[in-house]
Amino acid sequence: MEKLIGDIKSGSKIKIKIKNVIIGDNKRVIISGPCTIENYDIMLSIGKKLKDIGVDILRGGAFKPRTSPYTFQGLQWEGLKILKSVGEQLNMPVVTEIMDTRDVEKSLDYTNIIQIGSRNMYNYNLLKEVGKTKLPIILKRGMSASISEWIYAAEYIMAEGNLNVILCERGIRTFESYTRNTLDLNSVAVIKQKYRMPIIVDTSHGTGLRELVPNMSLAAVAAGADGIMIESHINPEDSISDARQTVSIDTVKKIKENIEKLEKIL
Ligand code: PEP
Ligand code: MN
Repeated sequence: MEKLIGDIKSGSKIKIKIKNVIIGDNKRVIISGPCTIENYDIMLSIGKKLKDIGVDILRGGAFKPRTSPYTFQGLQWEGLKILKSVGEQLNMPVVTEIMDTRDVEKSLDYTNIIQIGSRNMYNYNLLKEVGKTKLPIILKRGMSASISEWIYAAEYIMAEGNLNVILCERGIRTFESYTRNTLDLNSVAVIKQKYRMPIIVDTSHGTGLRELVPNMSLAAVAAGADGIMIESHINPEDSISDARQTVSIDTVKKIKENIEKLEKIL
């Protein structure tokens, strides 16, 4: 393997500061919010409740990479206007997925972090495009990507000059069908030991089942994750997308409290 920018031997651990949140420091970061931005009122009430319990970063999808082209594709720019306005009102950084190279520049006006979704991890043109920005990039693991393919995807971003890459483990496809994906926490230990980028774990997509999210969030932190991403909603069952893996705000609160206890031991 050639010398990689992300290799631990190439420099110090990367810490990413977004407003007053630091990813890659000692304190685990919690990112939460709905799978999809549904409307202004719902987004604001979810955001307010998450802010109240001390969630660091608000998530919400506007461009949704749905498996079926016939299901809801997201509110697109209208959704991003909502997310931006809620984030500003609550003074919370926001993250959203961008899927198209043509949308990258315009999105800089709307979001504090760009998410590259699992389905786009191999979209090298998109990776290069976000690499030309200075925004932090959450790079999700492709659902069938090996750890080294994922690292190379991160290199595509970093080679363009943007070292603000946050890896996000979100589970991979295996023969197991009980859960939506198999959450590969081995990757967390590997990344922490061998690479410079911070890594977070999306335990909603990683399990697909809301009742598994609390346990696996703690497991992710125990494995060394720098943060957790959890889909949450004021009425999880009514979520437009990914309802089955979306938890209540109260559950996020409990997970956060337990992570804080675990941090003390670690
Ligand atoms: C998401 O975060 O809403 C999402 C679509 O995730 P993934 O790309 O991991 O499937
Ligand atoms: Mn989702």
